Order: sequence, then structure tokens, then C-alpha cells
Amino acid sequence: MKFDYYMSCLTIEITRRCNKHCLFCAKGDAQNLDITKKIIDKTLSEVKGCFINTLRISGGEPLLRPDIICYLLNQIIEKHIIVNDVVMFTNGHFTGDSELANCICTFLNYLRQIESEAGTIMRWSNFNFTSKYSSIAAKFAIIISDVGKGRNVSPDMVNDLITYYSEKIQDDAFYIMKQSEDFKSMGQITLEGNAKRNYKDLIGDSVYINQIKILNNNYCFVTNSANNPHQPFFHNTYFVMKTLTVSANGNVFPGCSMSYVRVDNKPMFNILDCNKNFFEKVDTFCWNNPICDMAMSKRNTFAAMEFCRKKGIKIKNMTKQDYILFQMLDDLINQYETIARDIHPMLPYLNHAEIDGVAIAILVNNLYEKKIPKEYIDFFLKECTDFGPENIPLVTPEWCRGFILSYVEKNKELAHKAQ
Ligand code: SF4
Repeated sequence: MKFDYYMSCLTIEITRRCNKHCLFCAKGDAQNLDITKKIIDKTLSEVKGCFINTLRISGGEPLLRPDIICYLLNQIIEKHIIVNDVVMFTNGHFTGDSELANCICTFLNYLRQIESEAGTIMRWSNFNFTSKYSSIAAKFAIIISDVGKGRNVSPDMVNDLITYYSEKIQDDAFYIMKQSEDFKSMGQITLEGNAKRNYKDLIGDSVYINQIKILNNNYCFVTNSANNPHQPFFHNTYFVMKTLTVSANGNVFPGCSMSYVRVDNKPMFNILDCNKNFFEKVDTFCWNNPICDMAMSKRNTFAAMEFCRKKGIKIKNMTKQDYILFQMLDDLINQYETIARDIHPMLPYLNHAEIDGVAIAILVNNLYEKKIPKEYIDFFLKECTDFGPENIPLVTPEWCRGFILSYVEKNKELAHKAQ
């Protein structure tokens, strides 16, 4: 079996309804909207043939519509969609549903069948819930979000739900657990939706910068694997290394926590507008947002600093000089993004990683020409690119010019071959 496409995580937003009003809800106010069968069917037809490392079932509160979850799982089986594992987050305020329990049992058998067909597939993604969040190893996990200021959960109800599904689904590959029990990455507040509105209650007057996050997933998260005879499953495969969410109204967005308002204002696209070109549309989004993940994370850190500055929130352990450095990085990231956007049409045969490298080389060469001190250039390379510490000293003006010319030549050769 060989896969032309790989997704680290596909999230399906079952509903935008919810029976809670969490202070920190990144999605914002609940809406009376459930996903339709048409949107599910369309999504599955677009991703058929792709290897989906993790399927995430989300909301709103997905357990408000167990019937839709069952429809989704049954359709995945019927259409033979390749999924490695499944995670579902719930607030846990429900009694058990026997139809859903039966569906999950059937689905677990399907996941085992897929595994035996595809063989043991190496996890290429840096996203999988078992490593990112928890020490558990599951094929199907239900995580009960029982933590967070303003969550207001009933422990008895949560425990009853755990008991119900644990007894109904007696399978080693099934886990149901509280988020508070085993999760590694807790404590960061995403300033989005209700959390942004309620920031005073959540943050107070001072914060460490790594405790807050401004959500912006507009970066290039796709890549192509090389020919690799040792990895037959992912040979010339197109990798999507960021969670993509199909929301309840069909709007597709990167990540899984964006507020409904932002998703609907500026989606990547709507799944119903796809015509077997889902991955082309994802690719176009990445060309329009060509910076790498490291640069994106620094841009987001600066956005969080700006948020605090405007709201009068003190950032702990941060000096004026740190702020100036991040401001400079933000400016350089904007330049890098503009260069990458501008050169892609001129070098259309180069892939994302190659355009990224050329854009950085052009930027750094420009900085040398403007006599920007080397320590600032090195700081940019260290913080915003994947040049390792051993390579940064080698990035001289001569190296930049040689690198740029070699890829201009490569583009010419590829253009020639394509004729
Ligand atoms: S965080 Fe989850 S449970 Fe809380 S209001 Fe938002 S969707 Fe509902």
C-alpha cells in the first residue's frame, strides 16, 4: 500500500451546540448548528485514499449528537477511509449512549483491519494525541475535559460516563479518561473566542508569555517526501503536517480551536466547493501563507506581547530589550513572507521548502547589504528558521547568492523537463 497524501490530523466538528458556557471557550458562543450528512459525505470523498493519522471528533460538544458520530464512523468504514486512530473530546456531562458504544466497538475492529492491511506504519506526524497530550496509547480515546477556570463539571456525572463506556467497550485499544489525570500540555490559555473576551478573569494583571497564546495558523504546513525505498507507504507523498478542521457548516480551517466568528469570516475554503481538489486548495493556502512554523510561532509570541501591552498586562521576566528584539523579528518575518510570495510565481517549479530557502537567502542577503549587524541576522536565523547552530555561521552573503543562483538554475532545468 502506498499513500499519495498524508494528514497528521483531520478534525470533524460534529456540532456547534454545547451544554456548557466555559469562560475560556476558544470557539465562542454556541450556535444552533449541526454538521450535515452531505458535509460528512463530501469530506470523506475528498480525503479518500489519504492516510489520516488521527481523526479528531470535536464540537461544540460532540456527544450532543451521538447519532451523527455514528454516521461518521459508519461512513468511514463503508468508504474504506484509512484512519490510524481516533480521539474525541467531550465535557462529559452526559449519560452513556448504547448505539455509540456499539459503533465504537465496530470501529475498533475496522481500525485493526486497516492496520493489518497497511502493515505497521511509522508515525510521521509530530501530532498524535498519544504523544502530545498523554502517555496513553489508544486506537480510540475519549478525553473528558474536566479542567479549566469556569468549566464547572460534575465529578459524579463524569465518573458515571467513564464507568458506562469502560464497561460497554471492553477493548484494550479503547481509553476513556479525564484530561486532568494524564495530560502533559495543560495550562496555556488560547486568547480566542470567549477566552479573549474574558481575559481579565483568566489572566489577571500579569502573565508569563508562554502561558498565553494568540492563534494564527496562517503558515505553510505542507511538504513533500522524497523518494525513499525504505519507506514504501510514503514515497513521494504530500504531507499535511497541521490539523485541518471541517467545521459544522463545511468551512475548513487550519488547527482546531479557532472561534466560529473567525472561521466564518475567513475560512480556507468550504468543503462543499471542492471537486476532488481538497489538497490543491490546501496547497494554495500554503502558497499564500508561505512562512515556516518557527517564524509563525515567533509572530504569534509577538502578537501575544502586543496584546498584553495594549491591555496593560505585565509580562513576567521580560525586558524592554526583549520586546524590541521580538518587534524586529516580527518585521523580518513580514519581509520574509513578502519575498516568498513574490518569488513563487517567478520560480513556479520549486516546491515549498525550496521557495522557503530561497526567500530566506534573499532576505539575509538584503540584510547584509543594508549593513544590519550580524548578531541580528543570526538571531533571526536561529529563531525563525531551521538552520542549526552549526550552519548559521556559514550563512554569508556569498553563500546566500550561491544558494539563490543554484535554485534559479534548478527551476530552469525543471521548466525545461516539463516542456
Ligand atoms: S470549551 Fe467545550 S464544553 Fe466549554 S463551552 Fe466550549 S465547546 Fe462547550
